[in-house]
Amino acid sequence: MAKENYEVVMGLEVHAELSTKTKIFCSCPTSFGAAPNTQVCPICMAMPGTLPVLNEKVVEYAVKAGLATNCEIEKNSKNDRKNYFYPDLPKAYQISQYDKPLCKNGYIEIETSKGKKKIGITRIHIEEDAGKLNHDDLSGGALVDLNRAGVPLIEIVSEPDFRSIEEVDSYLKKLKSILEYIEVSDCKMQEGSFRADVNTSIRQIGAKEFGTRTEMKNMNSFRSITRALEYEIQRQIDVVDNGGIITQETLRWDEVSGKTFSMRDKEDAQDYRYFPEPDLVAINLSEEYINNVKNSLPEMPESRKQRYLEEYKLSEKDAGILTSSKYLSDLFEKASKVCGNYKAVNNWIISDISRILNETEMDPIEIPFDANQLGKLVILIDNGTISSSIGKKVLEELFENPRDPEDIIKEKGWIQISDEGAIKEIVLKIIEANPQSVIDFKAGKDRALGFLVGQAMKETKGKANPQLLNKLFLEELKK
Ligand code: ADP
Ligand code: MG
Ligand code: ZN
Repeated sequence: MAKENYEVVMGLEVHAELSTKTKIFCSCPTSFGAAPNTQVCPICMAMPGTLPVLNEKVVEYAVKAGLATNCEIEKNSKNDRKNYFYPDLPKAYQISQYDKPLCKNGYIEIETSKGKKKIGITRIHIEEDAGKLNHDDLSGGALVDLNRAGVPLIEIVSEPDFRSIEEVDSYLKKLKSILEYIEVSDCKMQEGSFRADVNTSIRQIGAKEFGTRTEMKNMNSFRSITRALEYEIQRQIDVVDNGGIITQETLRWDEVSGKTFSMRDKEDAQDYRYFPEPDLVAINLSEEYINNVKNSLPEMPESRKQRYLEEYKLSEKDAGILTSSKYLSDLFEKASKVCGNYKAVNNWIISDISRILNETEMDPIEIPFDANQLGKLVILIDNGTISSSIGKKVLEELFENPRDPEDIIKEKGWIQISDEGAIKEIVLKIIEANPQSVIDFKAGKDRALGFLVGQAMKETKGKANPQLLNKLFLEELKK
């Protein structure tokens, strides 16, 4: 049957590492990138006889995430042991939450080309991350790094509400943006602090029951999620079309071959032999505590967008792009304050900065320069020190090796030539070298002026003040 005869059903389990300073059950730091096994202690290394102590911040952050996604907060929550064996999990169990997650029954509203839609959030629970296996090609073995063991996570489980890849993409971006706004996770996908398990099934249009699902684990880039889903949906359709059945299994997406591979059969809850964690007390939250967390929530993307529409009169589209990331909108507000020209800052972010982020698959939070430097770039253009085409080169420098834009242009000799005498010399030189263009201009071909200005820009490597150039060319040509 053709693709149109099937409906795709997807559900997501997103893991976000919380940006608490210390781990969930010990006081080891959580920072990323340290030398292997330097951020460990007997507790997170699972030495016998050690006892966990729950980090209060983890509960606060999870409740924040729950409130920001319209969840009910469970006042009587607890931790449970999820038992499984894997070399990156030295306790042979993960402390997680089973039947009493901190948050449940929420939703997130997403926007797609078909309009708005609510995606249900089944639950949000807290748990500890596992360590990491580094495969060592030299020895043929694997080395265990436990720095990540015990880093706090929230797992956000959605309802199987997605019906298109676009909805999945939009949800992930929205969820990431919400977590960034409330500052509970840095959501750096390349560092694995925001990763998704993607559950996929298909059914014939009109069918009541869901089809059997497969699960692709630990996806950490928007692009590979889209690619993987395109592949997996088609694979399932092909299997069913050829009379086969989908088996419930865990898949691994391989970026290089662009295919999914079976990792293992799916485990059920009973395989994990969950039971209440005996070494931790129950988590009891008061109404007052929950209200305090509620009151600490910052301005969220929607209200910020609304404010941009009213305060700055930005277009719906621009305001949407800026507020899609807290980092981008902070950059916008701070840089605008520095230079006082929010229109220019908006333009830089919407056009050149967004383009570079796209091309390099960089996350806004990884932008290497700060708001002060962007603001200064705008000032240098506004006061005529550099042209906007030189400005683009300065921006590239800011991405490469961020420093004060003024230092950049001095170092590179990019200061705009605004001296009338100097520009006049160039104008005369270009006119002399291009007699045909002068004739063309006099014959009414306005394009010739553009050509001459272009030649002068080339001659000065983009440094001539364009308004002055235009003015002086016109004066000479009309003589
Ligand atoms: P587990 O923890 O075993 O992976 P859950 O039952 O909690 O399982 O479901 C995990 C995710 O799978 C949820 O996000 C849910 O929405 C999604 N899901 C469940 N059934 C289906 C299905 N038939 N097709 C697609 N997604 C599904
Ligand atoms: Mg799962
Ligand atoms: Zn520790």
